[in-house]
Amino acid sequence: MPPLQGKHALVTGAHRGIGAACAIALAEAGARVACADIRMPEATLARIKGNNPKRGHFGVMVDVSDEASVDTLFATVREGMGDLDILVHCAGVIHEKPLLDTPAEDFDRVLGINLRGTFLVGREAIRMMQGREGRVILTASDLAYHGRETFSPYVASKHGVMGLARSWAKEFAPHILVNALCPGPIDTEMLGTANMTPEWRARELDIPLARFGQPEEIAEMAVFLAGPQARYITGQGLGVNGGSVMP
Ligand code: NAD
Repeated sequence: MPPLQGKHALVTGAHRGIGAACAIALAEAGARVACADIRMPEATLARIKGNNPKRGHFGVMVDVSDEASVDTLFATVREGMGDLDILVHCAGVIHEKPLLDTPAEDFDRVLGINLRGTFLVGREAIRMMQGREGRVILTASDLAYHGRETFSPYVASKHGVMGLARSWAKEFAPHILVNALCPGPIDTEMLGTANMTPEWRARELDIPLARFGQPEEIAEMAVFLAGPQARYITGQGLGVNGGSVMP
């Protein structure tokens, strides 16, 4: 039997990149998946429905930084699935600018989507998981373990995500396990591998495995964390990073 057979999952950021790969992988592992994003994740949904028809997968539009929008998302998830076993929260944005050129509005936007968004979506998912065994999988970064010049609001948001994961893991043990994916450089539009200068590319690939990771390699970790073999793992940041950090 597929490891997530009969489970109900919500994936945010499902339009593209890591979130899309996670939604596809969870469906392949047997889960029924609600795919959420600020853009309707049509292509992801089409692929999931094509491969796994009749399981009632559906898409929802949400702005994760907006409380009313997140409330509407969860009303839709409640109506569509009744209950929730798994959250994989991937929605996020990157931001690169020297600190002295960074307006406070930029900081608010990045923290609003990456950290407040994780708080809002995680809180409502955990509310839906009360009285059940749940798995909450957030997305931090290898940058949750160190600093990086010209990325400070992004890095701060990912340190914050780890704070939420560790605190919720303690608050909701033993029934709800909370962990965070900590990807290294993954070949998605966010990282912009297609448009990198040779210098930037060389810097990103100066890691032990000397290549970009693929979104599917993060999704495999998400399926593992959502499944029975991860039953003794909580409050952790799981590095899938080619060795970029060794905390
Ligand atoms: P991506 O840009 O390809 O995908 C991000 C998705 O989030 C998009 O589909 C986008 O529409 C959605 N999104 C953005 N703002 C949103 C909002 N307000 N509400 C709802 N959805 C919103 O990026 P990715 O590389 O797939 O990154 C996914 C996650 O992984 C992010 O949290 C990112 O910080 C993290 N991450 C990525 C890398 C990497 O190298 N790609 C490394 C470490 C961590």
